[in-house]
Amino acid sequence: MNREYEIVIIGGGPAGLSAGLYTSRARLSSLLIERGVVGGQIADAELVENYPGFVEGISGFEIGQLMHQQATKYGLNTIIAEVTGLELKEETKVVKTTEGNFTTKAVIIASGSERHKLGTPGEEKFTGKGISYCATCDAPFFKEKPVAVVGGGDAAITEALHLTKFASRVIVIHRRDQLRASRILQEKALDEPKIEFLWNTVVEEIEGKDKVKRLRLRQVVTGEKSTLEVSGVFIAIGLKPNTDYLKGVLSLDKAGYIITNEKMETEIPGIFATGDIRLNSARQAITAAGDGATAAIYAEKFISQ
Ligand SMILES: Cc1cc2nc3c(=O)[nH]c(=O)nc-3n(C[C@H](O)[C@H](O)[C@H](O)COP(=O)(O)OP(=O)(O)OC[C@H]3O[C@@H](n4cnc5c(N)ncnc54)[C@H](O)[C@@H]3O)c2cc1C
Repeated sequence: MNREYEIVIIGGGPAGLSAGLYTSRARLSSLLIERGVVGGQIADAELVENYPGFVEGISGFEIGQLMHQQATKYGLNTIIAEVTGLELKEETKVVKTTEGNFTTKAVIIASGSERHKLGTPGEEKFTGKGISYCATCDAPFFKEKPVAVVGGGDAAITEALHLTKFASRVIVIHRRDQLRASRILQEKALDEPKIEFLWNTVVEEIEGKDKVKRLRLRQVVTGEKSTLEVSGVFIAIGLKPNTDYLKGVLSLDKAGYIITNEKMETEIPGIFATGDIRLNSARQAITAAGDGATAAIYAEKFISQ
């Protein structure tokens, strides 16, 4: 296995795959390192309707596979391994992985983020089958249907407000007796007739056959149990950027996101960051892919200098 590349890309989601397409077409020897399945988070989306070029929509898994095939066609190398650290000594950068070390001139970090999971029975089974972590992506699938939103912060309330444009009812389930969301969002949500609140309530189980049908709930103060019939559940209890392996290497914001400029450059020359992992990313497949292309173009310039 070759251990030296001009570019190493960490993560095989839309950002990393698009970066890999551009660097390979630029004839740079490129290695993409992915710890799971190529496609990243979008591979979990049953139907993606907002990726340009696919008039009828396309499954997220298929987008990931197609992006990977396209980049591979131009020479992108891929290995399945987890990146565990970076060493940035002088000009050569060392990427440490569970399959050994690789040296490179430039690194494009595209390791994305993960939605915090509820951890309740049924969550894994129904992800993409009624359970969603992204209302912008999936709200149109729930036209005139009742949906629940789990969470009480800005993300949950923003999702709930967005869902009112589609769903028949939006029930916000929050484990506390008040929201953490900003006051303006709270006011909007409390004024919105389609939104109802279940306070001090947790989801104990998500049930259904092929798709989500009902939630089993528990009121945490009284202990009372109940069920709620819904077609969809939007889980918005926070996001975690996959940057654990970068601690002490790059400065991260409080939540762990990477700060870049518009060229996707980080504070360290030759280290670029793209996609969901960037501070203020729009967290969409298309924006991640755009970031990947930008990073690749500036990484090529960096190497040729
Ligand atoms: C269920 C669901 C549905 C969605 N639907 C849509 C939609 O319809 N439209 C839309 O535009 N967006 C949608 N999104 C959002 C979209 O998927 C993300 O914005 C996009 O995937 C972000 O791309 P990324 O490449 O930045 O990161 P990711 O997709 O998160 O990819 C990062 C990759 O890096 C890998 N990785 C992480 N750490 C390491 C490591 N240490 N070593 C090696 N590999 C690592 C991960 O395994 C992952 O494959 C959806 C997301 C979800 C979860």
